[in-house]
Formats: sequence, structure tokens, C-alpha cells
Amino acid sequence: MLKNCENCGGHLHFSPKDKGNVCENCGSVFPVPYNYSFNKKTFDEHTIEPTKDELANSLRSFKCKSCGANVMLTKFQMQTVCPYCGNTSIVKSKSKNLLYIDSILPFTFGKADALKKFKSTVNKKFYANKKIFKNIKDKDISGVYVNAFVFDMSTSSRYYGVFSYVDSYRDREGNTKQRTVYKNVSGFFNKTYKNITVEANSNIEQDELRSIMPFEYGSAVEFKKEFMYGYMLEYKDKMFNSCVSTAETIIKEDIKQQLLKKHGCTKIEQLSLDIEYPDRRYNYCLLPVYFVNTTVKDKRYKVVMNGQTGKVGRLPKDKLRVFLTIFFICLLIVGIILLIMYFSK
Ligand SMILES: [Zn+2]
Ligand SMILES: [Zn+2]
Repeated sequence: MLKNCENCGGHLHFSPKDKGNVCENCGSVFPVPYNYSFNKKTFDEHTIEPTKDELANSLRSFKCKSCGANVMLTKFQMQTVCPYCGNTSIVKSKSKNLLYIDSILPFTFGKADALKKFKSTVNKKFYANKKIFKNIKDKDISGVYVNAFVFDMSTSSRYYGVFSYVDSYRDREGNTKQRTVYKNVSGFFNKTYKNITVEANSNIEQDELRSIMPFEYGSAVEFKKEFMYGYMLEYKDKMFNSCVSTAETIIKEDIKQQLLKKHGCTKIEQLSLDIEYPDRRYNYCLLPVYFVNTTVKDKRYKVVMNGQTGKVGRLPKDKLRVFLTIFFICLLIVGIILLIMYFSK
């Protein structure tokens, strides 16, 4: 069970700076042990049994009426803003079962620092729309632990096919021409992949997550619910198997790129690729993500930020600046063409 502050009964929240839980009332600090030594599990160890852990009892499940997102809050949390759409229509729903959580990357900075870091990033990015985020406040930021499966997979592949590349050459008249060169390829390819991260909740896109990667898994610790006080937990709604196939798709795409590189080609014409996985391991891991939500002129904006490294995802662009840049580039090109025409007369 979760406990209130032992000294005064106040609410606790996890403070990255103090590496422990701090009482909002009396300021007492309760350190949380960081245990870095844990192993990834083999696929045989995978279980969809809901945890019998006290965690399930200490969390309340909420559903957003506006976008349908499911989030978990600890008993102490009063937050009623949906991190995915910024709406305030969060309602209590029936409790959901949780998977057993293996590991967690704790947030490394708190909300106040998140706000500062976010603002300074927006100011540094030339094309970011600065007006949208000028007035964001503490309440526009929510810290969410995003569910992900983190995979280690060793691969061994057999392949054959036809690759190609475009070659430039000079003909007899000395003109530069291009031709496609085809190459028959075949062979074996081995590579071990570490920490392939696949999100396990449909509220955050794989692309969105990729935009704030990498996460530093060297600082992953064994899961303890104490890391979660003051933060939300996303509800996992994707099946293990579908996450495995996403990971395998990511790996397959990478192997194709590696093979092209190996044979000095740029395009796959035909390929038969047989991938075997001698060893597959995984961790069900919680990743720290800050969601920044703001509404300007009835339009909602959501940006994600890595709660471990501070990396900010895609920002809405300042259309005027983008337009002016394109305009000046066009002007420059026209100018160069005119100059060439002038001198070649
Ligand atoms: Zn206290
Ligand atoms: Zn929502």
C-alpha cells in the first residue's frame, strides 16, 4: 500500500533531484533505492498475468472523455488534465490490470526544470513557432511514464537478390550520363540489436517516441512504485506479440540498409531475406516523457520531451519564417541562373 508522509501525513512526490520522495507538506525526504542490476527476460518468461503486486491496488485508472486515452494515477494525484490532448474531462474508470513491470528510467529532472528546458529549446530553434509556447505554465506540462518493450535480439540472416546503384560516366563526346548498374548478391549477415524500443500504448506514436530517442538504458533501474509518485502511468494497451513484430520490422529495415551498404548499392530490386533470431530478450520498461499541451485560438498543440535527457520532439513551425527561407532560396537560385546566363553570352 502507498503511505502518506510518515512524519505529517502529507502528499509525497518523487523528486529526481533528491533521488527520493519529498513530502509536499513538511519537506521530509524518503530516499528510493536505485538498483541497476537486473536482467532482460527471455521470451519464455513472458507472462500476461496481471501483477499481484500492491501496485494494482494503489493506482486508479482514468479515461479521457475527449480522446479516449487511459492513464493511471496514484492515489495521491489530483491531476485532471489529459496529457495526450490537454482536455480536462478525465473520468474515473474501472480498474485495469497491469503487466508486471521490469524496469524504469526515472525522470532526471522535475516539472519546474522541464518548463525551463522546454522554453529555452523553443527559443533556440529558429523555425519553431515561439508565439504558441510563450505563455505556457506549470499546469500545461504533465509527466507520464510511457510503456515500452525494450528488446535485445541477436539475428542471423541468409539472403540473395538483386541490388542496384546509379553510376555516372562520360560518353565519347564527353557528356556526363547516368546508368543503373545491377548486382547479384547473396550471403550471410549477423548482427546483435540492443535496446530496440517499442511503445506499448496507442496514445503515443512510434515516430513521436523516436523523435525524443535515444533513452540511456545504462541508467535503467529495477522498477519500484516509489518512482511514480507525482507522475502518471500510461495504460498498456498493445499486446506483447504485436510489439515483437514491430521490433522485428525495425530490425528487418535496418538489415536491408546494412546489406545495401555492404554491397555498395542504393536500391533493392529483389530480395529474399530469411532472418533467424537465436536469442531474443525483453524488458517491460517505463520511460519518462513530459507532455506539453497548450491551446492557442482553439487549436491544440502537443509536444513531447524526453524526461531523462531533455530532448524535445517535433515543434510546430513558424510558417512565416519557413516561407521567407524558401522565398530567399528561390531568389538566390534565380539570381545565380541570371548571372550564369549573363556571363555565358
Ligand atoms: Zn510530511
Ligand atoms: Zn485526452
